[in-house]
Amino acid sequence: MTKHIVVIPGDGIGEEITSAAVSVLQKIDEKCHIGMDFTYKMAGGTAYDSCGSPLPQETIDAAKKADAILFGAVGGTQWDNVKPTLRPERAVLGLRKALGLYVNLRPVHVSDILAEYSPLKPEIVTGTDVLIVRELIGGIYFGDKCESEIHNGAERAWDLENYSVPEVQRITKFAMRAARKRRHKVTSVDKSNVLATSRLWRRTVIDVARDYPDVELNHLYVDNCAMQLASNPKQFDVIVTGNLFGDILSDEAAVLGGSIGMMPSASIGEATSLYEPIHGSAPDIAGKGIANPCATILSAAMLLRYSFNEDKAAAMIEQAVDKSLAEGWRTPDLYKDGFKKADTHTMTQVVLSNI
Ligand code: NAD
Repeated sequence: MTKHIVVIPGDGIGEEITSAAVSVLQKIDEKCHIGMDFTYKMAGGTAYDSCGSPLPQETIDAAKKADAILFGAVGGTQWDNVKPTLRPERAVLGLRKALGLYVNLRPVHVSDILAEYSPLKPEIVTGTDVLIVRELIGGIYFGDKCESEIHNGAERAWDLENYSVPEVQRITKFAMRAARKRRHKVTSVDKSNVLATSRLWRRTVIDVARDYPDVELNHLYVDNCAMQLASNPKQFDVIVTGNLFGDILSDEAAVLGGSIGMMPSASIGEATSLYEPIHGSAPDIAGKGIANPCATILSAAMLLRYSFNEDKAAAMIEQAVDKSLAEGWRTPDLYKDGFKKADTHTMTQVVLSNI
């Protein structure tokens, strides 16, 4: 049965990088006969300009029916003065909410080739292979909030953090299943020495883990985890955590790999899932044809793995990207003397030829 993929290029470099990833998926389809078709929809500033909304209903409807969504990036300075509820970035939150994307996945894999771009010493970072599993639609970002009130004569604001047992069970099961496809280790991150939500989080994770005796579980407080990611990142396999801690830790982990242009991500829902690079729309290089397409190409590999269970096809893409880097090809964000300079088109062609 044909798999329907909705492609949402968005703004800035979005069109350049999603078209690179689609050509890679088409090449994979020729080789592996998965049967994929592609429909294009608008979101972000371009959608706002064209129909007055950063996330048109037509895009939401198509995304809901899709087997998977490939997203570029949204945003740009030309929309800085648009009112907050209509800003391009609203499209990302809107899609997460409309599609119930409850897990955010950020793999960080630092090979020998990329280690030299990391801010950490190569001996600390080389071989790091961690998957951050972040709960995406609960916790403090979605709790009740008060922008301003007077309390005991002083102005204050507040945000409420809450997690229910089913929310924690669902994300923990996802992390456990992901660990079974990897090195069978899960680190749960919380702040249970201080927060009630974290205490519920920890005891629920422990309960769920009983059904996964083959997966080793340990717990870290978030402050300690932040230090360990910078001092000994190789110890981690899968990290599972809530929305706020996951937001911060996944950005910290992304830096380990040295280049934002190489980092893919997935946001997983019960019905469909969305795949996108972690970077934004890079307005400073948009239209120049020099964006690194690898983060989006690697997001396409995640799409094959997590939405279609096509592990072999996903690995073919990942190996093709590694091989292209090993051959010395570098887009300007990674280029140094002695390497072969590639623009977006060239890098894409090299990856295609290595599949
Ligand atoms: P950014 O990630 O777009 O760019 C940061 C820096 O990294 C820039 O110098 C850019 O040129 C570079 N860069 C990013 N991706 C690259 C790539 N593939 N190849 C080479 N270089 C790359 O972050 P920003 O500048 O803070 O934000 C720009 C716009 O993107 C803003 O409007 C922001 O709100 C939006 N944004 C969108 C998303 C999303 O759509 N999910 C995520 C983050 C930021």
